[in-house]
Amino acid sequence: MDATKECIQEIKKAIGEENVSDDKPSRIVHRVCHGIESLLHEDLDIFTPAAVVRPKTTEDVVKIVNCASKYEVGLVPQGGRTCTYGAECVNGAIAINAVRMDKIVSIDEVAYNITAQAGVRLTDYIRFLNERGFDTVELPTMIKSSLMGSRAAISGYNKWETRWGGSKDNIKSMEVVLANGDVVRVGHGSGGPSKSVVGLDTMGLFIGSRGSLGIITEMTTRFIPKVPAYHYGIRAFTSLEDGLNAYLELRNPLHGSAVWRAKAYHKWMLKQAVTTSSDFVWPEDVEMLVDYHVLGDPEVVAVMTRRVEEICEKCNAFWRDDLPPTEFVGQMHNTMEKFMGMGALQSGRLVSGGMGNRIVPLDANIPNSHLIEFYKEYLAFLKETEAGKTWPNLAKHYHVLSPGEPLPTEQGGTKFWALMLADSKNFDKQSIEEFKGWFREYAELIWKHEGSLTATHGFIPKDMEVEFTKRELGETGYNLLKTIKKALDPKNIMNPGLRF
Ligand SMILES: Cc1cc2nc3c(=O)[nH]c(=O)nc-3n(C[C@H](O)[C@H](O)[C@H](O)COP(=O)(O)OP(=O)(O)OC[C@H]3O[C@@H](n4cnc5c(N)ncnc54)[C@H](O)[C@@H]3O)c2cc1C
Repeated sequence: MDATKECIQEIKKAIGEENVSDDKPSRIVHRVCHGIESLLHEDLDIFTPAAVVRPKTTEDVVKIVNCASKYEVGLVPQGGRTCTYGAECVNGAIAINAVRMDKIVSIDEVAYNITAQAGVRLTDYIRFLNERGFDTVELPTMIKSSLMGSRAAISGYNKWETRWGGSKDNIKSMEVVLANGDVVRVGHGSGGPSKSVVGLDTMGLFIGSRGSLGIITEMTTRFIPKVPAYHYGIRAFTSLEDGLNAYLELRNPLHGSAVWRAKAYHKWMLKQAVTTSSDFVWPEDVEMLVDYHVLGDPEVVAVMTRRVEEICEKCNAFWRDDLPPTEFVGQMHNTMEKFMGMGALQSGRLVSGGMGNRIVPLDANIPNSHLIEFYKEYLAFLKETEAGKTWPNLAKHYHVLSPGEPLPTEQGGTKFWALMLADSKNFDKQSIEEFKGWFREYAELIWKHEGSLTATHGFIPKDMEVEFTKRELGETGYNLLKTIKKALDPKNIMNPGLRF
């Protein structure tokens, strides 16, 4: 028997045969995530795991890690597999599916902290809080599929990022199983949810680590009381500059405590979105929409709503009867999963089966000082992409759904969230090669504007990821990553396909 098979047998004995699947259908189901990487390979078998294991407790995870370490078999933790990078498996590795670790461990309603196992689904976590009169600040789009452990593992982005920050700000401590089987509780300098200077901030190492340093088994996050007042507004603009200037001024740090979100939308996306779901005709002169969410105490919301309206007016904002109902855009965050489904349906999937079209999310992080210039150049780049002169084959199978919806990351930065639709069935060898050339030019444009390739999703084609990571971190920065990885995981069993 080879080492991997022995390892799987041992895991079966340790956590129960019924919690290990090594049949082909289960392995195929767990091979890819929502990521683009699987588009870039004709043979998906390179992602097929040797088995899928479903631990229930931290002790189960320790047993799995000890077996994997003994036989030097890779482990790939998976949540809902909705992220664009990191949850695809590696041929011969073992996929850890956390869904059975679904317990809310405790809640402290005075300190506003809640502790949950890593497999708790976001939608259940949010319902648990809402039922007790609280709100979540951990709020990504794909709440029906994504699991809590992944929020730490990818350094998640949240709807109310401007006010409350990303997952890195909301997670107060967590429990991790290391590659040597040790269980450690890490926080901001302490093992608990309180900030401390007793130790180094080791929790930061695991935020965004995508399973490459350990398996997250439990985490404590903060939450907030139910928000008493909420105002949603949206305005139209006839120029890109006016729209983006309004978006940037709404992002003024002084407004951040009440304006929890502002987002800009280009007509390239809006036109397609409204015409595929209604017989509405987009008014050609309307170039951008910007929407905003004001939350807090009723008096604060009333005052800030007036201030926001003044800012918009100064930037020549308006609203007219020939624009679609305001809820249309407001609800788009909640209906993203439906759009992904629509992407799949638009292919021949219902007729002939197989893979549907794939949404390709791109999420560069651009400094606000470069936003307007970057956007103009990016629009020209996307027009060139669709024209098909530079990448003729790619243009046939790669279509712009949204050229970029600017939304806040940290103060001073904007996540440039763009969506492409790839015809995955016909994404042939030449499209793959052209895509890599396209991605290289996309990266150069981002770096020219002092941005970073990705704010949340982490996608870089595997062939390029070491080179591109070094471009962003420098040679010494990259070597530091490798030093940490080697110290914590000398046998490289933790998500071995990642960029080290
Ligand atoms: C249309 C669309 C919109 C999106 N919008 C958002 C958004 O608003 N905000 C946002 O943050 N993201 C967004 N995403 C990305 C993704 O949906 C979320 O980040 C989601 O929370 C990932 O959770 P998951 O359970 O699906 O993770 P997965 O994709 O399963 O895993 C992500 C990574 O975490 C690692 N991992 C998973 N569990 C563990 C664990 N227990 N221990 C260690 N490592 C682990 C995996 O190995 C992988 O590398 C979006 C994706 C799509 C397709």
